[in-house]
Amino acid sequence: MTLMRLAYASEATFEAKPVEKGIEPHVARILMTSRKNNTSDQLVGGLYYGNNRFFQYLEGEEDAIRRTYERILKDERHRNVVTLIEEPLPNRTISNWSMKYVPLSRDVRKFLDQQGLGSFEPASFTSSQCEKMIELIRNSSQDQKLGTPGDAQPAGDKPQVLSGGLKVGVIVAGLCLLGALVIAGSML
Ligand code: FAD
Repeated sequence: MTLMRLAYASEATFEAKPVEKGIEPHVARILMTSRKNNTSDQLVGGLYYGNNRFFQYLEGEEDAIRRTYERILKDERHRNVVTLIEEPLPNRTISNWSMKYVPLSRDVRKFLDQQGLGSFEPASFTSSQCEKMIELIRNSSQDQKLGTPGDAQPAGDKPQVLSGGLKVGVIVAGLCLLGALVIAGSML
């Protein structure tokens, strides 16, 4: 069995819709299909989506990668696909995940800053920048690895556990309750 790895960059053709359950709906559908297919093909990798651009990294058995890439190239949800890496791979470097989804996280923003890049334009990445992106995919923390599309955060969005306003409201309500308890206690 020959292993290979592949990375490419492309531009989304769809207009990003409002985020549903933490992820852009088109990207959620792409991820669902990718996970289903890549799991049965034993392909692993990661997908970055941000600035209306994709960066995808795949590794696995050569025939499966080539078949998958042929489908991806025909997909009308993106265009201007630029192959960045296409080469044999001695050993797998990512295990367990069919397709990590990594939104433009803090790590990627840090990487862009370090490289002096103003925006996410993966088609212009140098080979060393590609390797750094792959390293980010490989090392992405548990919560960035996506079990279900709903777990992911979209590019640039903050976690939606509690909004800032709601947090302030909860704190104020807590303080009021505490104050009321103190007053009630002092009246006994
Ligand atoms: P199908 O059963 O044909 O389709 C699966 C779902 O995708 C359906 O809900 C269908 O409505 C929807 N769909 C398919 N094509 C389109 C389209 N052009 N516009 C809108 N909806 C559509 N596939 C993988 O298998 N592995 C990957 O890693 C992978 N990565 C991708 C990364 C990007 C950036 C993009 C754009 C696509 C990727 N795809 C990937 C999807 C791939 O291009 C094919 O759509 C998919 O592989 C078809 O698989 P299928 O025949 O099992 O799915």
